[in-house]
Amino acid sequence: MLLADLHIHSTWSDGKLPIPEIIDLFGRTGHDVIAITDHIVNTDNLIGKVTHRMKLSVTAASFAAYRAEIEHETRRAWDTYRMIVIPGAELTQNRVLRKTSAHALALGMDEFISAEGSVEEMLTRAKEADAIVVACHPNEQSDYFANTFYLWNQREQVSDMIDLWEIACRWDLFPRVGKARLPYVGNSDFHQPQHIWAWKTLLPCEKNVADVYAALRRGTGLGVTRLEPRPTAAPLPVAAFAAV
Ligand code: ZN
Ligand code: ZN
Repeated sequence: MLLADLHIHSTWSDGKLPIPEIIDLFGRTGHDVIAITDHIVNTDNLIGKVTHRMKLSVTAASFAAYRAEIEHETRRAWDTYRMIVIPGAELTQNRVLRKTSAHALALGMDEFISAEGSVEEMLTRAKEADAIVVACHPNEQSDYFANTFYLWNQREQVSDMIDLWEIACRWDLFPRVGKARLPYVGNSDFHQPQHIWAWKTLLPCEKNVADVYAALRRGTGLGVTRLEPRPTAAPLPVAAFAAV
């Protein structure tokens, strides 16, 4: 199984690390597949406008440079770490009410996809661009300020526009995704280095781009795991063996 993290933010939106540092961090910690998924935020309300003013969103104007940096780092990631990098974005509609907010990953996108209009219009654009669409953090999360419940509440209406659902994100599991028997992934929603030790996806495929995309589109046989930091090399105290 390949170790994958498909939800990672860089300094192109609200992440703390630039893409090259992300590549080195994930490469050195044994990841086989990662996706760079910076926010593309709606502009049709005040929250979106402020987010854009703070330069926390990829835009139609910046997308080509964003995509070019991912492309460059994709080659370096493979040459240095044998790690696959998928280009993506997190299509982001933040609204005042959590039940109307929606975040969805578009994986494998080569062209800009706007987050304007209704959630359904946004998802339709992602599907027309042939992206793999992942519903992000669909249920309540423990340490995440912007819970987004639209996709979960409308899951029957939007299910044909969603390929995969996050059953795990950052530190939390979402049992309701399992109970609904939806196809799932687990991701860290990485924004800063301590998020490296979090939920991940396990992909049942060979390590090449075509097989990774096929496994995600199939959506069956995937696993999730939560990475823990490697224990320090300090030897166990003798007392730990004495009781055996
Ligand atoms: Zn999100
Ligand atoms: Zn995110």
